[in-house]
Amino acid sequence: MAENDNIFLKITRGEIPADIVYQDERCIAFRDINPQAPVHILVIPREALESLNDASQSDEGLLGHLLRVVSKVANKVGIAEKGYRVVINTGQDGGQTVSHLHLHLLGGRDMTWPPG
Ligand code: 5GP
Repeated sequence: MAENDNIFLKITRGEIPADIVYQDERCIAFRDINPQAPVHILVIPREALESLNDASQSDEGLLGHLLRVVSKVANKVGIAEKGYRVVINTGQDGGQTVSHLHLHLLGGRDMTWPPG
């Protein structure tokens, strides 16, 4: 799939709609279309980055920013105090289905361990 066909890149460009809860110059956070918890939000970089495997040293600042945004969004939607889970599915065995780096923010219920 060409990078500009990536569904998440289309969301960052406003070409397909999403329920956006936060955005800044480097990333965007929106509700997952198929939520696995009462709160299920995806935080993604605006730049094209296929997965965690493709992050380089120059992306360290971006990765830190994405994690800080996750906690900011958790606060904003009211799940920070009770707790939440952050997941980065990576590659085939990791269950990644969209080839654009994304952090899942899951909350609003008890999480079980180990994950499936
Ligand atoms: P992955 O399985 O790659 O870790 O997660 C991809 C996530 O993107 C899934 O949870 C899926 O429900 C979500 N998703 C896929 N397409 C769309 C879409 O068009 N809009 C939104 N909001 N979420 C999507």
